[in-house]
Amino acid sequence: MMADARAPAMAVPPTLEAPTGLLADALGRPLHDLRISVTDRCNFRCVYCMPKEVFDKNYPYLPHSSLLSFEEIARVASLFVAHGVEKIRLTGGEPLLRKDLERLVAQLRALPTPSGRPLDLTLTTNGSLLARKARVLKDAGLDRVTVSLDAIDDAVFRRMNDVDFSVADVLNGIEAAQDAGLGPIKVNMVVKGGMNDDQVLPMARHFKGSPTILRFIEYMDVGASNGWNMDEVVPSRELVRRISAEMPLEPVDPNYTGETAARWRYVDGGGEVGMISSVTQAFCQDCSRIRLSTEGKLYTCLFATRGHDLRELLRSGRSDAEMSSAIARMWRQRADRYSETRTLDTAGLGGDPSRRKIEMSYIGG
Ligand code: SAM
Ligand code: SF4
Ligand code: SF4
Repeated sequence: MMADARAPAMAVPPTLEAPTGLLADALGRPLHDLRISVTDRCNFRCVYCMPKEVFDKNYPYLPHSSLLSFEEIARVASLFVAHGVEKIRLTGGEPLLRKDLERLVAQLRALPTPSGRPLDLTLTTNGSLLARKARVLKDAGLDRVTVSLDAIDDAVFRRMNDVDFSVADVLNGIEAAQDAGLGPIKVNMVVKGGMNDDQVLPMARHFKGSPTILRFIEYMDVGASNGWNMDEVVPSRELVRRISAEMPLEPVDPNYTGETAARWRYVDGGGEVGMISSVTQAFCQDCSRIRLSTEGKLYTCLFATRGHDLRELLRSGRSDAEMSSAIARMWRQRADRYSETRTLDTAGLGGDPSRRKIEMSYIGG
């Protein structure tokens, strides 16, 4: 059965209360990081994200009229920045499929911040169009990119992306991004047990000693279509053990509170790797991220089943003060900590379609 990525939205009744200012949620977590999905489409069919059988030609992608325009996105982003967001990541789907994305980057770059410090503006991409777009994105004001690459062996990578895209083309994209000044580049590798976990060591060897920081991500139970199974999760501590046996690692202090990746460095000075242990070592207690979907719904957790409809407010003539208050109330009520309560919640979701989790390609990773 086809999984519908989109869930019913919650209306956000605007009230007038203190519109801007630094916010803390119900568990005392600050709002720091906004992820914006600019498209729900992708030119890859990664087996753990948009499996071909579900995301086929009949899949109901959003029509263009549903998408937030760049101007709408920039307006929403400016309200978040006024509330203390210092970091914005563009994602998707594949964000570089969105036409003229550099126009949005330039609009976001121009947003004033309360602290006067420049926004940290980044993008996550599968790298397929990066060689073509790196320079123009940098010129528009993008700071850095994260590139997803799940194997260094071409045959394994082609099986993972399921559209026959080559490793060499992604590596070209990484090099172009590095040359354009979009470094230091992070490379994300999702590890799916039995599918690409034999690539952990080859990937580590490949990027060791380079300016690129490789990060391993535990395969997560996002969405409802990837057929997730705990047996296919390879715990990060197992990856640290495997890598250390050949190339000894030692832990490094986090750069800041709420950093998703635990940092490890090669004892011989060969650089760092990161471990994103979203399944086996949840990091909800410091989670300061909110997500804006392609059609303008706000999700306070990656595993949310319902979003708050900001597009409705945007398109019904609400003032900035009203929108800002709605955002503030939403964040103050937030008590999500799905990864810490995963087992219970997953059991509860059962077959209820109205509580189906949102697809990663829709909400943005
Ligand atoms: N298309 C872009 C890309 O792949 O980088 C951006 C969107 S993608 C949804 C963002 C990140 O989510 C990628 O690094 C991807 O590997 C990761 N991801 C997708 N599905 C995942 C899953 N089930 N578990 C863990 N990570 C996942
Ligand atoms: Fe596309 Fe990224 Fe999902 Fe792969 S992980 S299918 S590249 S959105
Ligand atoms: Fe944040 Fe939700 Fe992920 Fe926990 S499960 S880290 S609250 S997005």
